[in-house]
Amino acid sequence: VKTAALIVAAGKGSRAGAADLPKQYRLLQGRPVLRHSLDTFLAHEAIDNVLVVIARGDGALYNAAAPQHSRLLPAILGGETRQESVRNGLAALARARLDRVLIHDAARPFVSAELITRVIAGLDDAEAVLPGHAIVDTLKSVEGGEVMTTVPREGLFAAETPQGFRFAAIFAAHEAAAGERLEFTDDAAIAELAGIAVRTIEGEPANIKLTTAADIVAAERRLAAEAAYALGDVRVGTGYDVHPFGPGDRVMLAGVAIPHDHGLVGHSDADVALHALTDALLGALGEADIGQYFPSTDPELHGVASERFLDFAAKRVLARGGTIAHLDLAITAEAPKIAPYREAMRLRVAGICHVALDRVAVKATTSEGLGFVGRREGIAATAVATIRLPFGVAT
Ligand code: MG
Repeated sequence: VKTAALIVAAGKGSRAGAADLPKQYRLLQGRPVLRHSLDTFLAHEAIDNVLVVIARGDGALYNAAAPQHSRLLPAILGGETRQESVRNGLAALARARLDRVLIHDAARPFVSAELITRVIAGLDDAEAVLPGHAIVDTLKSVEGGEVMTTVPREGLFAAETPQGFRFAAIFAAHEAAAGERLEFTDDAAIAELAGIAVRTIEGEPANIKLTTAADIVAAERRLAAEAAYALGDVRVGTGYDVHPFGPGDRVMLAGVAIPHDHGLVGHSDADVALHALTDALLGALGEADIGQYFPSTDPELHGVASERFLDFAAKRVLARGGTIAHLDLAITAEAPKIAPYREAMRLRVAGICHVALDRVAVKATTSEGLGFVGRREGIAATAVATIRLPFGVAT
């Protein structure tokens, strides 16, 4: 079965304030309106070819809007009416020995791959398939700004595109209708005229037709909101910890053992860096601090490796459906020298939290001889954790 998509982009878009630019070439999230549906059809595995019908004079606009793609045929020029434009497109496709064609309006940028799949599937046992939706608004017949009558909406169906057809049937119907001086605004109407049974299927509420300049502004806002939503609910937490020096021959910092003439004193392995990171993650989650989960009075925790705490906090982010976007650690110490161990620390933290290395920063500074760090009484660490949580999750 060979299927093509015919995208009609030959309109002049006068209702969308197009003194400047036809609406199919206006930008939506930086992509021309036409490009949105074009990309969706080109990416669909059941579509063998895509042909776009464009208006005379729009060649440069189209060339700037269209991608290089092996399944995209050279554009065809449209006619005076939509009907004529579609017929030109079908005539060009007739050489391609197609079984099926989906005819789509470029002004509907939000067509989904799922809808395309359903239209194609509908053609298995129908000659014509029309996606759409029931009318929910009350309909009025109006003349000169005055209501003449209320139109019963029962049984009324708002047509969307893409409309799917067996190719030979719709091509013949268009050829036959070419002599009729009627204003057909969709292809199902031409199929109806030819006596082809048109099967309706459920369309998609998001598959709107951009008609006015306000429609384009609203669509832009919707896409921007969706993009922001997809980023998630970004949260930031901070953590701070200090441990004093005591007897020993090494310090644990960010899970890395560093030889030194002192150790750090604490209930666990006294890894200030991992403690600060743990508190930063717990803070981003809006939870209690590390001491609430791992009390220093717990004999079980005596001398344990602190990666257990960070692993715990990282898993709590996961449990909330979240991801760790970034971890930033700063260690303040006069000694030992941190720099030679910086990369090992990043690797260790990235490994414990299961994040990419470029999402972990480790920095070190001295205290310039000032304060308890300056007097070499201990080491301090601060951390900032940035996480993304799904919206709307209650805690
Ligand atoms: Mg601590």
